[in-house]
Amino acid sequence: MSLIRLKNVSKFYYSKGVIASGFSKVNLSLDMGEFVVITGESGSGKSTLLNVISGLDTYEEGEMYINGEETSHYTEKDFEDYRRKYVGNIFQNFNLVNSYTVYQNIELVLLLNGNKKRKVKKQVLELIKKVGLYKFRNTKASKLSGGQKQRVAIARALAKDTPIIIADEPTGNLDSKSSKAIIELLKEVSKDKLVIIVTHNYEQVEKEATRKIRMHDGRILEDKKLKEVENNNLESEKTYKNITFFNKVRLALRNTFNIVSKFLLMLLVYLFITVSLLSEYASFKEQEYIESKSGDNYIFSNISDKRIILKKSDKSSFTDDDYKKLEEIKNIDYIVKNDLLLDSYVNFTNDDDFWIGGTVNSIENFRGELDFGEMPKEQNQIVVEGNENDYYIGYQKDQIFNKKIYLNDSFTGDIDRSESYEIVGIKYNKNSYNYNLTIYVSDELLDKMKFSTNQNYSDIKILFLNKYKVSNFWGENAIRGNDKVPKGEAYISNDLSYECPNEYCIKQSLKIEVSNLYYKDSLDLKVSKVYTKQNLNYLLGLSDYDVLNGSIFINTDDYNSLFDKEYYQSSVFVKDVFDIESTIKELQDMGYNTLALKNTLVNSGISKVLGIVRTVVTVILVVVLFFISYFVIRVILKSRNKYFSTIRMLGANKAVSKQLLVMELLTVANIAYFSFVILIYLNSLKVINIGFINNILLYLKLKDYIVLYLILILMSLVISGKFSKKLFKKSAIATMGEEV
Ligand code: ADP
Ligand code: MG
Repeated sequence: MSLIRLKNVSKFYYSKGVIASGFSKVNLSLDMGEFVVITGESGSGKSTLLNVISGLDTYEEGEMYINGEETSHYTEKDFEDYRRKYVGNIFQNFNLVNSYTVYQNIELVLLLNGNKKRKVKKQVLELIKKVGLYKFRNTKASKLSGGQKQRVAIARALAKDTPIIIADEPTGNLDSKSSKAIIELLKEVSKDKLVIIVTHNYEQVEKEATRKIRMHDGRILEDKKLKEVENNNLESEKTYKNITFFNKVRLALRNTFNIVSKFLLMLLVYLFITVSLLSEYASFKEQEYIESKSGDNYIFSNISDKRIILKKSDKSSFTDDDYKKLEEIKNIDYIVKNDLLLDSYVNFTNDDDFWIGGTVNSIENFRGELDFGEMPKEQNQIVVEGNENDYYIGYQKDQIFNKKIYLNDSFTGDIDRSESYEIVGIKYNKNSYNYNLTIYVSDELLDKMKFSTNQNYSDIKILFLNKYKVSNFWGENAIRGNDKVPKGEAYISNDLSYECPNEYCIKQSLKIEVSNLYYKDSLDLKVSKVYTKQNLNYLLGLSDYDVLNGSIFINTDDYNSLFDKEYYQSSVFVKDVFDIESTIKELQDMGYNTLALKNTLVNSGISKVLGIVRTVVTVILVVVLFFISYFVIRVILKSRNKYFSTIRMLGANKAVSKQLLVMELLTVANIAYFSFVILIYLNSLKVINIGFINNILLYLKLKDYIVLYLILILMSLVISGKFSKKLFKKSAIATMGEEV
């Protein structure tokens, strides 16, 4: 039984509708121990025949037997197995990995066939010695002469230790002296193997050949046995293992870095993808954020997107303990206890010379540094924050500084001259479009304002003689505090007497009910005196009867108890507006009703359309980016065709090739991604300061970094999958040919 037998085998090439014959109707039996020389003019079909015998190329007609087994049913995988077990190829153009050293080239075939790196060292060095290249063991293949390269190729074929060695014009590129040495080497190393060699120079091999085959025009013209060979049959079949995981990683890393220019180019492409993906996504989020901020609101005047309004679900007032717990929430920057003031306007004036008006905040919540003056040391000192181009705090600041100013009651319009204040500090905000002023005042003044706000904005009703009367703050049934009225009692106007039974009102019950947005309260009183024009001064120490008539006088403490309340509503401001949703959730879990100001804004329809357009544009951009990168990487990888078809011939299957490629791309992707992340980190530490990175820092969260990282990884997987699919669609020899 012959090792290889061809029966009427033909090979055709189909290209552009034309059928060309590689060789036709070849009959051939080849055995172990033979040294077969094939000659013939160029184009006679020698290479085609060798490729078919090597399992590198397919045939169309006839039967080929390997060790007695017919191969027409062979799959690609069967031929892969066959090549690994049987065939060592030597080519005219060597097919070495040029970027590997001599040692690495020979080691490669052993690693691909499942050997451990440490175990092969001795064997590799022995083989290098055998082909006389010990001195060059660490030289890159690209630096060797043609003769030296072919020696490496022979050593590599020997390392594979297959029964068949197929050499296609191994001396075609060599001078006659090197050629002779190569042939001798081949003869020496191939005892007991089947050697098939194609050459133009028959004389060179005449001495060694045991058989001569001459081809012409795709047919065998002459097939002559020159010497008898001992027909020793093939011993037991060789087994092989697949490359180990660690050696895959090793090779992938070696491939990543050993061609520096290729590595830098890939790194550049990946950096480009990383940077564009991250900055594109950041600007997407920036746009989204800007739009979420825009919009109108007719209820609240402080519409900061960082503001969350809080009420307790049980409608009780805030306690110190509540505030302490709120302060402990990580994302909360500061608390405005007297929340109502954020939406009301406060005015100070200096006897009508100038007016300073704005929203109020507690001096405790002042952030940053003053541009002018100093922080308040006393209760009646205030700080103003606003635009540098504001008329008063910008151009006229000397006019308003340290001058006595008074609070102008926004409700009554009265200027309260009982207490004076002064501006001691000014801060200019950096937002040039914001012309609102914020006035920072002491908590004492805030309490005072809270009292008057409660008083001004409450509904007050009086229940007297089973009938409700509306209390008007200025006139009819106005409630007024007076120290001369004892607690729990009320002094009423004589005008009301007519409603009482027998016009006698003393001891009648009178109930005051107060309600506003935040709380309800009531006070039960007994009428104890009725005042008239005559006794007003005597009873209450007051004289302006015409103005005061109709008022109901109660004890000052009773009066204050109706309006001097704790806070029923407060606002918190978050540090990071992008985390506001989780902060809202946290607050709700703590038992608060929340209203985030940004959710109260009314957006126009056009911004929704813009949002959709923006999303579509971003998706298109990412897809375009993907394709640009894909094509660039493909062009770079094309130069790797030779590498992958070489390792395929040495025993790497599709999966192994793909994994090597994936690992290589992932290595570059990770280096690119993480070096950019380091750059971002350095930027966040202010070691460097790059504008667009600041934008990324501002708008991207850990989650976004992870998602974009996964996109990058996915892209690498898709690219390497597509590339290796393409690589293996054709036969090994075709992929190789494409490259040459
Ligand atoms: P040799 O090695 O003897 O010089 P080849 O085996 O390379 O000859 O070529 C044999 C014939 O097959 C030639 O006519 C050649 O043109 C043709 N041939 C070889 N390879 C291809 C190919 N990839 N596509 C089409 N025709 C081919
Ligand atoms: Mg040829």
